Amino acid sequence: MAIDGPSGTGKSTTARILAEKLNFIYIDSGAMYRAITFELLKNNIKPNDIKKIVDITTKADIKFDGEEVFLNGKNITKEIRSLDVTSKVSSVSAIKDVRKILVNKQREYAKTNDVVMDGRDIGTVVFPNAKFKFFLVCDLKTRAARRRQDFIEHGMKLPIEKIMAELKKRDTIDSTRKESPLKKAKDAVEVNTTNMIIEEQVNYLLRIVNGLD
Ligand code: C5P
Repeated sequence: MAIDGPSGTGKSTTARILAEKLNFIYIDSGAMYRAITFELLKNNIKPNDIKKIVDITTKADIKFDGEEVFLNGKNITKEIRSLDVTSKVSSVSAIKDVRKILVNKQREYAKTNDVVMDGRDIGTVVFPNAKFKFFLVCDLKTRAARRRQDFIEHGMKLPIEKIMAELKKRDTIDSTRKESPLKKAKDAVEVNTTNMIIEEQVNYLLRIVNGLD
């Protein structure tokens, strides 16, 4: 199952709960791009050092355990949500070679498991033949308010304007990049989550999966 859309539409939470209910494995593809961004920043790799970037991405062993994300055996769950990683991840994910390597890793996860994967290009590029495809949208203010709440839960209080600006910037880079831009697959079901709480989103998607809608 592919769930795409911009940040703050509730993709990850919805995908995680759906995977649990369906007994599928949940893969957060955004966390993979964040993991690579974290590693590049940690090693001070310059954006034009493609050779090193490819090397790090190829060698990256990214594993998931519930909500935890591991890179080469180290738990980086918290680190990949930092403001620094968040502000740089869209530039890293626009690099063709990074995408190629991570898309292969994403396909590996699905070889032996039923997966729910969320991201930006899952229904268009990673799994164009996914059985179910959803594209979540939501107005900017609501997305920013949700993100703000996430930050508060992680002990950070940020002005809503700052969050809106950051989301807008990422939306622009993600949807205008040459490689696999964020866009709705032709056969994806678009769901506007502006006025939905998570439970409603999950039930809405679940009804479609179960053929009730
Ligand atoms: O989903 P999340 O907000 O954690 O994703 C972080 C970033 O990773 C996105 O803004 C986007 O640049 C990139 N991404 C991507 N393709 C995916 C998933 C995420 O380019 N399939």
